[in-house]
Amino acid sequence: MTVAKASAMRSKDPSTQVGAVIVNKLNQIISTGYNGFPRGINDDEFPWINSGEDWGNLKYPYVAHAELNAIVSARTDLTGCDVYVTLFPCNECTKIIIQAGINRIYFIDDKYHNEKEFIASRKMLDAAKISYDQLPNLEITIKVKQK
Ligand SMILES: [Zn+2]
Repeated sequence: MTVAKASAMRSKDPSTQVGAVIVNKLNQIISTGYNGFPRGINDDEFPWINSGEDWGNLKYPYVAHAELNAIVSARTDLTGCDVYVTLFPCNECTKIIIQAGINRIYFIDDKYHNEKEFIASRKMLDAAKISYDQLPNLEITIKVKQK
């Protein structure tokens, strides 16, 4: 989860930084991801705005979530793997997690617990018998020393 937290710090989203790490049965890291625009899309040309009337000018249609990025980056069979994610997955990521064959989710933040997308996530995970466990929050600090 420490690596997931560190991955989240790479996100340029000013409101919600999320990181995900996929590990195999030996707890070896297979891949990491964080929320951001798809490859080749400039962070300066697309919006990070999260509220307003004009859907096309919000971040939502464009942002690829941390779980999606970690799963796509893995480029290998993830059957039986676990995912560590800093925020409980939305319904779209939950579908991708299930289809990838991941069988356990560890998360920290559950701030959207009562929102419909996250209720749908739990409904799918329960039906698919994929466990999800909340871990205590942790704070990491990375200091970069310039020469
Ligand atoms: Zn998601």
